[in-house]
Amino acid sequence: MKKLNLNLLEKRLGYDFKDKNLLTQALTHKSANHQHNERLEFLGDAILNFIIADLLYLQFISATEGELTRARASLVNKSALHEIALSLELSDHLHLGIGEQRSGGFRRESILADTVEAILGAMYLDSDFEHCRNVIVHLFHPRLTILKPKEQIKDPKTRLQEWLQAHHKPLPKYHIISIIGEPHAQTFTISCEIEGCLQVVQGIGASRRIAEQEAARKMLELIHENK
Ligand code: MN
Repeated sequence: MKKLNLNLLEKRLGYDFKDKNLLTQALTHKSANHQHNERLEFLGDAILNFIIADLLYLQFISATEGELTRARASLVNKSALHEIALSLELSDHLHLGIGEQRSGGFRRESILADTVEAILGAMYLDSDFEHCRNVIVHLFHPRLTILKPKEQIKDPKTRLQEWLQAHHKPLPKYHIISIIGEPHAQTFTISCEIEGCLQVVQGIGASRRIAEQEAARKMLELIHENK
């Protein structure tokens, strides 16, 4: 097996493994050793899909289920993961059996993509969900920003306003329902209603602004459910 500088890889990942053996296992193809990365890949695949779903859900507040599914598939597929593997220069760190080495396994798209998943699985075991999330945000940031960037930048109130304008409806009405708590730790409940929609939604937040954004986000969900 090659002696490799894992520090360099950790630096590119933006994560320092407490248990270096986990990282080594994640880099080990089944052709090289019985302690290989397939189970880690299984775990990493699930974590990656979940975190990407969560990121997309939060960023594309008015995207439909179908749009979210397509967006996730465009981010989490073999060729996208292969590109990430290349940016991490994973080929230099793989442990492969002799046969795979000879047949160019270091460059094989599926081996590299699977190794990215295995690294994420290993990272989750080595730390926690939050660290995994941060690394995934870091690795996928360029791809996430080119994915319909307009929808990403705009906040729910702006998007709701634009949707209403596009449908020739008056602006939404926000009302304060309640403000509770001490002045330094208040909780605002704000309602949002729009013309032609019988349902009134409420947002709760630590400021008037946050509660309004939350109410607008719920209204956008409602609009898209009833579309
Ligand atoms: Mn895989």
